[in-house]
Amino acid sequence: MIISVASGKGGTGKTLVATSLALSLKDSDRIQLLDCDVEEPNAHVLLKPEIAGSNPVSILVPRVDEDKCTYCGKCAQVCAYHAIAVLGNHVLTFSQLCHGCGACSYLCPEKAISEESRETGVVEWGHSNSVGFVHGKLTVGEAMAPPVIRKVKEYANNDGTVIVDVPPGTSCPVVEAIKGSDFCILVTEPTPFGLNDLTLAVETVRELGMPCGIVLNRAGVGDSKVEEYCKKENIPILLTIPLDTEIARLYSRGITLVDGMPQWKSSFLQLFDGIREIVDERSHSIKR
Ligand code: SF4
Ligand code: SF4
Repeated sequence: MIISVASGKGGTGKTLVATSLALSLKDSDRIQLLDCDVEEPNAHVLLKPEIAGSNPVSILVPRVDEDKCTYCGKCAQVCAYHAIAVLGNHVLTFSQLCHGCGACSYLCPEKAISEESRETGVVEWGHSNSVGFVHGKLTVGEAMAPPVIRKVKEYANNDGTVIVDVPPGTSCPVVEAIKGSDFCILVTEPTPFGLNDLTLAVETVRELGMPCGIVLNRAGVGDSKVEEYCKKENIPILLTIPLDTEIARLYSRGITLVDGMPQWKSSFLQLFDGIREIVDERSHSIKR
């Protein structure tokens, strides 16, 4: 089973939930945590994995041979990302905008475009306390997170349980990280900002046709509007974590919730049972 842990905005406790869920399950299942928050991976700060290996991540970007080019402009027309432009007798490429789709080189009538590899990040893997660990790091200054996320996901185990720490927000990297999951946990907090970002995250997950449930973090900090929204939208709140200075203190010292407060392990196991029930029920109803 693949479980994504997402949130509409950063700082809601997504990594706290992902790491504690992984550690709670490690004695009963083969567990792997994929940190796909490649712009700012921080699961390693909590899990402190032993890194066993790494691989660079590259994309293919265009290189134009101006001796063959007729400046017809076809490449600029087909590029959906404005990563190539033809200005008079010059072709300009903006490799940091390039998604490496290959359309320009494929469609160039003069075969004037070849492709060259450009490194955009790295994937590292290892182990932490019986939890398989993989994370991606986008090179500073690079904008293309999805290729690094795709590479991290290539390391997912096909058996056992995989937990995906998703980037914050609702943009392309989020969709790239979530897609293919069996379930998405949405971590939020009971504030107007939390509710606003949660509604956007729910829309994204529903577009992907994926079941989701809520972890309400820092309960007690705001109002009851998130609970009212979840009730109205029929989205289960699977776990509530209170606003607690001890939890914040542990997190700030790089200690996972279940390591610092082992009494939380049973709550995370219940969270997993709740998810499994929803996923099983859904797969039975699809088969019927
Ligand atoms: S499509 Fe090819 S020939 Fe036309 S402007 Fe681009 S590189 Fe030059
Ligand atoms: S490879 Fe794709 S994204 Fe990159 S410049 Fe060519 S058409 Fe644009």
